[in-house]
Amino acid sequence: MASEALAPGGRLLLVGSGHAHLFVMEGLGNGRFPAGVQATLLAPYQLHPYSGMVPGLLGGRYQPGEVVFDLEPLARWAGARFVQGSAASVDLRARVVELETGERFHYDLVSFAIGAGPPGSSIPGVGTAVPVKPIERMLNVVPALARAMERTGGRKVEIVVVGAGAAGVEIAFNLRARYTLLSSSRARITIVDGASQPLRDRSAAAAKLARRALTQHGIGLRLGSEVSEV
Ligand SMILES: Cc1cc2nc3c(=O)[nH]c(=O)nc-3n(C[C@H](O)[C@H](O)[C@H](O)COP(=O)(O)OP(=O)(O)OC[C@H]3O[C@@H](n4cnc5c(N)ncnc54)[C@H](O)[C@@H]3O)c2cc1C
Repeated sequence: MASEALAPGGRLLLVGSGHAHLFVMEGLGNGRFPAGVQATLLAPYQLHPYSGMVPGLLGGRYQPGEVVFDLEPLARWAGARFVQGSAASVDLRARVVELETGERFHYDLVSFAIGAGPPGSSIPGVGTAVPVKPIERMLNVVPALARAMERTGGRKVEIVVVGAGAAGVEIAFNLRARYTLLSSSRARITIVDGASQPLRDRSAAAAKLARRALTQHGIGLRLGSEVSEV
């Protein structure tokens, strides 16, 4: 966010509805901003999934409606306005954000918290994979799996999870839970990563435990392998 203070009655524009701005909404709702602030929350989707629960959706523990929250009533509670749309450009001099639709929003203070995207967008064929970021895309994983099951008929489904970090490992375990508990057909699940151990930003002990649990659950690990094409 820009450093200057927001004056009472000022226009605050929050671009992106992820974790970062939810704390701002909490602050607005609890009166921690100057009086009369006119806040707008701008995001491409009205239903925002909570990433901590989305792996449980893959595993069959939760239903889609249980892992998302509706930004419109949340914004209303915070005294803000929710606008569904994607920011396409910003004019810092004029203090205007323009949406993909051409709609323009004037602000006194703007904050961009539009999250991260998975690296590797230039890998050939990557468009056919199912990305997990922005987090809303993860809601597409279950339907994509259902389509894969249909395509393969009775055969084993081959699932490759790219990335052996905390999210990739958690996703692989939950996919295994889904196919063990909810389906008669089994799936072969393999995690691929260029690193030499899973959870590379964690301790060696954590990596060892992860390896052991993955093996116990029949999840393959292909380490030291960078994905060059999908
Ligand atoms: C499988 C998985 C499990 C995870 N589990 C946990 C966990 O248990 N605990 C934990 O702390 N973290 C977890 N994380 C990490 C967590 O999701 C991120 O750290 C967090 O989402 C980052 O918050 P953010 O606000 O920066 O971005 P995000 O939450 O990604 O939000 C960015 C938002 O900006 C929107 N946006 C993008 N472009 C535009 C645009 N042009 N205009 C308007 N809006 C836009 C997006 O649609 C999105 O809603 C997990 C991540 C994954 C993938």
